[in-house]
Amino acid sequence: MITKREVIEQAKKLGFDDIGFTTADSFEAQQKVLSERHENYSWLNEKGMDLMQGTDPKNSFPEARSIIVLVNNFFHHSFPASLVGKFGRCYLDDDRVTRGDLYRRTKAFCKFLLENGIETKIPSNLPHRLAAARAGLGTYGKNCLLYSNKVARLSSWIIVMGVVVNHEFEPDQPTSVEDCPKWCKSTCIVACPTNALTRNRTIDPRKCISFLSYYGEGITPLELREPMGMWVYGCDRCQNVCPRNEAWLAQDLPADKAIEERAKDFELTKLLHMDVEYFKKRIWPHMFYISADELWRWKMNVARVMGNSHDSMYIHDLVRAFSENDDVRVKGMTAWAIGQIGGSKSVEALNKILKNSVGMPREEVLLALRTIGPLPTRHATLNRKNMIMRKAYSLRVLS
Ligand code: SF4
Ligand code: SF4
Repeated sequence: MITKREVIEQAKKLGFDDIGFTTADSFEAQQKVLSERHENYSWLNEKGMDLMQGTDPKNSFPEARSIIVLVNNFFHHSFPASLVGKFGRCYLDDDRVTRGDLYRRTKAFCKFLLENGIETKIPSNLPHRLAAARAGLGTYGKNCLLYSNKVARLSSWIIVMGVVVNHEFEPDQPTSVEDCPKWCKSTCIVACPTNALTRNRTIDPRKCISFLSYYGEGITPLELREPMGMWVYGCDRCQNVCPRNEAWLAQDLPADKAIEERAKDFELTKLLHMDVEYFKKRIWPHMFYISADELWRWKMNVARVMGNSHDSMYIHDLVRAFSENDDVRVKGMTAWAIGQIGGSKSVEALNKILKNSVGMPREEVLLALRTIGPLPTRHATLNRKNMIMRKAYSLRVLS
């Protein structure tokens, strides 16, 4: 039978950054977490992902004897500046649907095992990060992510994948601990804009921007629109602020040419006005959690980002989006976005769209107008200028 060393060599030959081995025992601590915080994760069951079932590898593969965990660094190249801060990095290089490089390498790895008499299964609901820590590949951050023990400069820019096998390999020493420096003072928790990170290694996924951007129900609640900031799809904030990721982020990485070529397709104005044909041709299957019949999500997110940019150059496009879309969620968010930009041009635009609005979008237009409030008159502006000048003069006299 094939040895552990031979399996390791094959994984390295196929370009995986790291590999570890653990038992096929169930993840009991995770079962407790899932029972205690059922309401945080029940939405995944509705999407057909039974996390509790995944905590025991034998539920999906009764012959399971070990788990081989593969590590892949997905951030070998730099991403275009126009996309960073708007799209989560892991989604920009996600080839699960296109069945690209990572898919092919994983398939080749499983084929190699099968040729050597070992059957494999990769259950999507397996707690892959927990398996990786148990296989000695990384430690946890307070932001619930896994940080590599050896590769990617010990950062969290990794994807881990547990391959359940029907052959027993000697398990590696687990490193299932949190390993954040004390001086960091929970920067990720403080920096999380929507308070999704509630305490150490505890997240409410329903509040996470990643979830909200592709699975959130209805129009984004008012109180979350501003905190969600400039993220269109996904969020990297708790990784960007993390000192454990600093060494990797500080590098000058070569540009990802493929993503660079696609960057222009993801311009905000193009996304705001896109139709199904554009989506299928230019966007799909990248960031595939939003399908062609849910374009309203893309448009609503983009409108919110435009509003949070406070850039008046987007007002024209937002007005256009308000009239060209029937979806009330898109209409409502474009109205909010115009109000968020503020100023006299926004008031003019909102009054224009108010005439043709009914129902919820109309409420949003009125709310936006109330939020901007009365604009200063020319008289008031001059008085204010005079006051500032008088104050500056008296300060000069006194000094
Ligand atoms: S990805 Fe963003 S929203 Fe989600 S936990 Fe991290 S900082 Fe918070
Ligand atoms: S930001 Fe600080 S507390 Fe959060 S994961 Fe990184 S090192 Fe840990």
